[in-house]
Amino acid sequence: MTQTAAGPADRPYGRFFLPGPTEVHPEVLAAQIRPMMSHRGANSQAFMRGIQVGLQSVFCTARPVFISTSSATGLMEAAVRNAGRTKILSLTNGAFSERFAAIGRACNLEVDTYEVAWGEAHDPSVLRTHLENGTYDAITMAHSETSTGVLNDIRGLAAVAHDVPDTLVLVDSVTGFGAAEVRPDEWGIDFLLTGSQKAFALPPGLSFGVASERMMKRAQDAPNRGYYFDLVFFQKNHDKDQSPTTPALSVLYALEVQLDRMLAEGMEARWARHDEMAVRTWAWVDEMRSSGVPLHVVAPEGYRSPAVTTVRLPEGVNGPDVTQAVFDRDWLVGGGYGQFKETTIRVGHMGDHTMDELNGLLAILTEVLS
Ligand SMILES: *Cc1c(COP(=O)(O)O)cnc(C)c1O
Repeated sequence: MTQTAAGPADRPYGRFFLPGPTEVHPEVLAAQIRPMMSHRGANSQAFMRGIQVGLQSVFCTARPVFISTSSATGLMEAAVRNAGRTKILSLTNGAFSERFAAIGRACNLEVDTYEVAWGEAHDPSVLRTHLENGTYDAITMAHSETSTGVLNDIRGLAAVAHDVPDTLVLVDSVTGFGAAEVRPDEWGIDFLLTGSQKAFALPPGLSFGVASERMMKRAQDAPNRGYYFDLVFFQKNHDKDQSPTTPALSVLYALEVQLDRMLAEGMEARWARHDEMAVRTWAWVDEMRSSGVPLHVVAPEGYRSPAVTTVRLPEGVNGPDVTQAVFDRDWLVGGGYGQFKETTIRVGHMGDHTMDELNGLLAILTEVLS
């Protein structure tokens, strides 16, 4: 059997537990073989309108859901370019929230940080102090920090930011959306973004953004919003049921099918399924510790992502060896990220995975680690 980086070509469905890209259901994968269509004209407008209805429903929003042909990092840049004028505050607690700060600097903004250690979450009352001591066009944060498995209280953090005039709330919900409850309109999130290849369980290639009215007003005058990620350009095309530039049509076909599947499950049921898988994973960590294998969940209780669990390995056990041993058994689990590369593994229990599939992975991990 030829082993490729993706595992054997005939690997059964349900064994791919990376925290991105995630396993794509065969029905969704198959949608991509449809022939191309023109992305201008009545046909494509009807297609885009249909998708938009589904998107607004899964994003719990009455605002337009912009679709970008880029990975999620593209819309992180869009967030910063359209909301930033001179200075932003980045809440950092891991690799992806740090990326948001780096994008701010790369876009020539002054960036202050409210930094906590990898594995910790941000505290709304500390955020309040930061906002009292500086004036910011926007704050950035990660909802579910995929490097550590920490879930931030974006609702509480957004509420604090709303006590300050003109500070927009920009949220990377790349592994949050689809796994954890998120209600951008109700929670006052000015820009919420996600990618296609995480808890959305689509192939990579698209990202999605929901902009508040305040965000769109800000974008109108943003001095440095550029061209490709200009939200005003997105809005103009959205109003005509068009995409700004040629969309990744094949992934849109997959999206159309996946939206139907998500709506059939229901978002609340989807969040509950993710909670159940996460709770099972944390319980497994405790069981392993009781039986003498000292594993630990990196994220503190109360701040754990329902999409991804970062597991600290026992002293002397090397992360890459564990992921390789799992791979050799024709399953996949995520390696540690950045400064956690050697000392952790990450279980991506998100997307369309089921409890049965997760239990299968945990059995393999038990065998590898015992
Ligand atoms: C994966 C990920 C990103 C980057 O997404 P790309 O689609 O690779 O650009 C950003 N933030 C978080 C939290 C992620 O998990």
